[in-house]
Amino acid sequence: MKTRLLLAIAALALPVPLLAQDGQAHDPAALQQKALGDNTAYSIVEDLTTEIGPRLAGTDREAAARTWAVDRLKAMGFANVRIEPFDMKTWVRGIETAEVTAPYSGNMHITALGNSASTGARGLEAQIVYFRTMADLEAAAAGSLKGKIAFVSHKMTRTQTGASYGQFGDVRRRGPNIAASKGAAAIIIRSVGTDYHRNPHTGGTNFAKDVTPIPAAALAIPDAENLERMITRAARDGKPVTMKLVLTPRQIGTTQSGNVIAEVPGSDPGAGMILIGGHLDSWDLGTGAVDDGAGVAISAAAAKLIMDAGTPKRTIRVVWWGAEEVGIFGGSAYAQKHGAAGHALAMESDFGAGRIWQVDFRLPETADGLKTKIANALAPMGIGRSNDVASGGPDHGPMVALGVNAIDLRQDGTDYFDLHHTPDDTLDKIDPQMLRQNVAAWATVLAIVANDPADLLPKPVPAK
Ligand SMILES: [Zn+2]
Repeated sequence: MKTRLLLAIAALALPVPLLAQDGQAHDPAALQQKALGDNTAYSIVEDLTTEIGPRLAGTDREAAARTWAVDRLKAMGFANVRIEPFDMKTWVRGIETAEVTAPYSGNMHITALGNSASTGARGLEAQIVYFRTMADLEAAAAGSLKGKIAFVSHKMTRTQTGASYGQFGDVRRRGPNIAASKGAAAIIIRSVGTDYHRNPHTGGTNFAKDVTPIPAAALAIPDAENLERMITRAARDGKPVTMKLVLTPRQIGTTQSGNVIAEVPGSDPGAGMILIGGHLDSWDLGTGAVDDGAGVAISAAAAKLIMDAGTPKRTIRVVWWGAEEVGIFGGSAYAQKHGAAGHALAMESDFGAGRIWQVDFRLPETADGLKTKIANALAPMGIGRSNDVASGGPDHGPMVALGVNAIDLRQDGTDYFDLHHTPDDTLDKIDPQMLRQNVAAWATVLAIVANDPADLLPKPVPAK
């Protein structure tokens, strides 16, 4: 009792941060300069990719990443560091080979898509039916693919914004379900990517409840184009092309994933918190440097700059999300647990480590002054203000749907889909200078929004 009393007295005597007013220590221009010389983000992504490496959602590698993350965030000085666990159904990769067996021959570089079924260890050999686009696949008659391997190319094009991923990513997201529903034995797709390396791009797919999953895999782009040529030539002689596929992935049942949370406590809990982060899980082929080691690093490094400068008005909550790649399970679990109340804003970094060139807002009209302040502070960095509506990033989608505001700092994604979900997603692809530019833009926005007087609390979304 006595000891506790003494401790209480000692706590009262602790110096409070020397701030006459909230945010005085957070001069955006000064923090921007500091960030441009700060290597915190690079060291986070370097250590994560070196000490942990690939961290597929629901596996023990993702669990190891969470343990690593807790240690790291504590060492950085964040408060309330903790894991919020959730359960998920987990899929793991097996053997994956593809071989053209007639009328030509040769091995092709292939990788299974998340949730792909297995061919069994002995594999399956079947005739290929070719579709140039998703629309062509959708137009195929019911039952017409019975016992065949559907092959869809649906060639993706490069865009700075990554907008083409929405359109061309469909072949991976929906193609397998469509092929399965038409009776296909398996489906192979041209990788959803923009490179010409012999690396297949993985990624998740989903089958409807009433559709039995089939083996589903992506071919490296040079191999997909070679296969197209083979099909064209064989067709001239009236011959089908056949392929032997061996894919042995497994569903391993329910395992645990989790979100790792850390905070910079604010001086005014009533002002609502700012939710920032990236996703901690990665696909298993590379080391998850660009997707999304960079994002967890950028967001946490920016929050640390704010923390080290003084207490902000709003709490900044950093979340390193679990299980994004396989279905945004972490973001959904968080929204279900916490709801929108008390969340002023959401910002995520999940588009690599390229230069930030644009800022998008999803803010109430009453916060127009805040938008102008942010746009003016980012302008010297060559970052333009857009009229696009911010999404908040994939992991924050469930919160934004509940009415939480968002700001997006848009990265140049021209090269992003060269690496995305491939073995090539490794540390050497990150330019340390570009990473610092990202942190500088993030610190600028946080310095302003964490101290702004605007009312950013979410308004209840009317019940439907
Ligand atoms: Zn990602």
